Amino acid sequence: MKSKIKTKKSAVPSLLMIYTGGTIGMKSDEKTKALVPYDISQIEEEVPEIKKFGYRIDKHSLEKVIDSSDVTPDFWVKLVKIIKENYTNYDGFVILHGTDTMSYTASALSFMLEDLEKPVILTGSQLPIGILRTDGKENLISSIEIAAAKREDGRPMVPEVCIYFESQLYRGNRTTKYNAEAFKAFHSENYPPLAQVGVHIKYNTAAIRYPKKWGKPLKIKTMLNTNVAVLKLYPGITPDAIRSVIGTKGCKAVIVETYGAGNAPTGKEFVKLLQDAVKKGLILVNVTQCLGGKVDMSTYAAGKGLEKAGLLSGFDGTFEATLTKLFYVLGNYSSLDTIKKQLQKELRGEISC
Ligand code: ASP
Repeated sequence: MKSKIKTKKSAVPSLLMIYTGGTIGMKSDEKTKALVPYDISQIEEEVPEIKKFGYRIDKHSLEKVIDSSDVTPDFWVKLVKIIKENYTNYDGFVILHGTDTMSYTASALSFMLEDLEKPVILTGSQLPIGILRTDGKENLISSIEIAAAKREDGRPMVPEVCIYFESQLYRGNRTTKYNAEAFKAFHSENYPPLAQVGVHIKYNTAAIRYPKKWGKPLKIKTMLNTNVAVLKLYPGITPDAIRSVIGTKGCKAVIVETYGAGNAPTGKEFVKLLQDAVKKGLILVNVTQCLGGKVDMSTYAAGKGLEKAGLLSGFDGTFEATLTKLFYVLGNYSSLDTIKKQLQKELRGEISC
């Protein structure tokens, strides 16, 4: 189904607000008091302040709004298609999304939107917008202002997929949801905020990723291969548990969640299991369980074994970015060598290497 929104071209900033579901779009039903999604076209009733911008803000609600726990790769494909179909008509996009998987969506979109030159700002809230003390209003209002912001040369201030939450604008593929209760629900330990919102919005232009050359058309990448498994290490993990993960039917890659700077048990049996898997053509990516810092397999003997076994470094990437990058790279390249090369490269600012 095409979802091109009817628009008129105008000089005032124009934004498309896409509502996908989540707490931000909830208010309590007058009769039952249960939280139910409300009609996004009426958002000005809940947040009348947004009229004061004087921007043209069109709204698009997904046919079926979801709790973000139900997000799937097909949902990402739907979103990138909506952005592509409406790309030339708007200065920026604001996506209202549940917080639970927002970092996965932001990471996936960053890979699926190639040569993006406009802001795509995801936001949500911890308290429904219909609740007096909601954090949703500020999150929404600032996201709108950021999505419309321009540099002096008229180019978008933040042409990236971002998450705006609780006064901070983050590069989306550097974030993790780390708090289920606090208003500051997201964290980006390995990359600084792209903007901080206080009395003024202070953009960190040195951290923002600008195109080397402007004017490329947006390309969308909708092929994702989800044949990826995850092996989280823990003291006491058994060889059988490892075998069952790396032996997952159809599996093309495994993210190995290691300790500290990319360390793992040094036992011969463990290392051999991984080494044999790599020899058979499985891609193993080493990601640390720590929120901050990076994988460096050359630091300790406990890391060197993995390096020798042929694990690739996930550098300082988040789990969410590593997973969605694998989906994207496996879906778009077929040669093992090219896939490995792509994984070791920074594609959308998701790793520092
Ligand atoms: N479960 C909700 C969701 O992710 C939570 C939220 O929106 O914050 O859709």
